[in-house]
Amino acid sequence: MATLLDGKKLSAEIRSELKQKAARIQNQSGREIVLATILVGDDPASATYVKMKARACESIGITSRPVELSASTSTAELLAVIDELNADAGVRGILLQHPVPEQIDERACFDRIQAAKDVDGVTTLGFGQISFGLPGAYPACTPAGIIRLMDAYQIQIEGQHAVVVGRSAILGRPVAELLLNRNATVTVCHSRTRDLESHLSRADIVIAAVGKPEFIHGRHLKPGVVVMDAGYNPGNVGDVEFASCEAKASYITPVPGGVGPMTITMLLEHTMQSAQAALGQ
Ligand code: NAP
Repeated sequence: MATLLDGKKLSAEIRSELKQKAARIQNQSGREIVLATILVGDDPASATYVKMKARACESIGITSRPVELSASTSTAELLAVIDELNADAGVRGILLQHPVPEQIDERACFDRIQAAKDVDGVTTLGFGQISFGLPGAYPACTPAGIIRLMDAYQIQIEGQHAVVVGRSAILGRPVAELLLNRNATVTVCHSRTRDLESHLSRADIVIAAVGKPEFIHGRHLKPGVVVMDAGYNPGNVGDVEFASCEAKASYITPVPGGVGPMTITMLLEHTMQSAQAALGQ
């Protein structure tokens, strides 16, 4: 029987430590720790995510500063807002909620966020720094959460064959880089991959980041595999078929309660690290 990787419990532990740290930092500096969240337009799912992030901030003593912009905002207007937040010494992190309306050049806006405030790990520069193992950048939050959860259970990464299914900018690609930096041998699969099943059958670690419910089945996997399911589909269903994968795995993340809770926790942790960096700690 596989061990369940409890992201909810680990998140609660990390958040409790962060809460104490936030109080300490604010006592020392006499200033709030502010995370600015930018929401453009009125997509209800995005609005919900931003609210969840704001609530998580408040629960540990980070001040969330919501910036809400209309759906007709232009790239130039959004860039100007980001410039203002970059220049505001009181703001320690900037989160631009994805996706933005289609008239906006999202990549240009992400890349305008100052590296030191890119606590969501979305800039091209930050990705490069993380990929090269350089300091001063924060990795994307879901990939960071996946690695953190594996570390908490002392799951070996070095030397293991990790198969990442998905190559998105926020998930598949950055998690592949983090695994590579931890000396895994990494295979990245995507929609044009031929014979996905043969790749999966050789995996010691599978990272499911496909966005398709129950896409990966236990019959594709070898016994003892570690299954990290980042998927979150309607009806609380992950990207792996849980029962069959659990039967094969040594460790597996449940959905919900596995990778999901770690994402916002990593955002909080990065914001705290940014506040500490600003204090020279
Ligand atoms: P995405 O941008 O849609 O990317 C999906 C990836 O899966 C793409 O790289 C795509 O390949 C690949 N793919 C699609 N069909 C495939 C197939 N038949 N075989 C192999 N690969 C295939 O999705 P995402 O944003 O990375 O999200 C992935 C999942 O993670 C979703 O369920 C999402 O809800 C979840 N998620 C969870 C969190 C969290 O906080 N827990 C955060 C972010 C995302 P191509 O590149 O070739 O198109």
